[in-house]
Amino acid sequence: MPRVAFLGLGAIGAPMARHLARPDVDLALWNRTTATAAALAGELGVRHALTPADAARGADVVITCLPVSRHVEALLDGPDGLLATMAAGAVLVDCTSGDSATSRRMAERLAERGIGFLDAPVSGGVVGAQQGALTVMVGGDEAVLERVHPVLACFGKRIVHCGAVGAGDALKAVNNALLAMHLWGTAEGLVALEKAGVKAELALDVINASSGRSNASMNLFPERVLTRAFPRTFRLALLDKDVGIAAELAREQQVPSPLLQLTAELFRMAHLELGEAADHVEVVQVVERLGGAQIGGRSA
Ligand code: NDP
Repeated sequence: MPRVAFLGLGAIGAPMARHLARPDVDLALWNRTTATAAALAGELGVRHALTPADAARGADVVITCLPVSRHVEALLDGPDGLLATMAAGAVLVDCTSGDSATSRRMAERLAERGIGFLDAPVSGGVVGAQQGALTVMVGGDEAVLERVHPVLACFGKRIVHCGAVGAGDALKAVNNALLAMHLWGTAEGLVALEKAGVKAELALDVINASSGRSNASMNLFPERVLTRAFPRTFRLALLDKDVGIAAELAREQQVPSPLLQLTAELFRMAHLELGEAADHVEVVQVVERLGGAQIGGRSA
């Protein structure tokens, strides 16, 4: 029975952790806000750890899912840090959508103690996490991935080895930068169409049967924008972080990337304007305000 510790029970972490509460897994949960971990552990009948060290001691696999890599790195140090408490041979699987440089640094430091590291960001959103159908993009040693594969398969449907440590982070950031471009670009187009007298519902029907379609046009706009529901499932602050990582990757690789850099700029501004709690789809409201029309109806 693998002993698994799951650290970080946020919007995506909590539904991921739920899939690990099975008779063949010995699971411990930790979250910065203790009440969250206590409630979920109580509901699932698993162990609630009061500190990361308490969760990680004796674990074969420690899974982290925090906003940014530096939050995970901060858990490594000190007498109660993961470096001091994880056993040689154990593996830290970081499901944070992180940055490659920090992941490489963490992998090196853990390797000095004989601890494995994989960057393993996920995609599929909260619904994918609830369904146990996430895509997991893994960077690191393939043999280490083989060992932890059965654990990742509890919440991941597609587990893809992307390359060396940091490769999963890089791919995830580019994927999310494309999501950001589709969101913003589709919003601009639909606001312009509304003002030109073409209704967004009709426009989306046509676009979704044509070459301009995307996950944004097929799912996010019909379900969240036309309905004006704007549920909060994935914070804009986190998408801003992802686009920033992708823009930085392109600069590091000396790839001319005006579109990535502009998208990073736009999402930084929208994040500043809308704040920490806003959902990523709420950027559509910024475009609506600037353009003076609401997608799916009345003037903004
Ligand atoms: P949330 O903001 O919902 O949750 C963040 C979690 O991290 C909470 O458990 C929070 O604890 C904890 N946390 C925040 N800061 C710290 C810190 N300094 N030290 C320790 N714990 C901390 O984020 P998500 O769950 O949405 O996202 C987590 C990661 O997954 C991000 O990298 C995100 O980009 C990625 N992701 C998210 C998706 C989504 O649809 N939401 C989809 C795919 C990837 P507390 O409860 O105390 O606030």
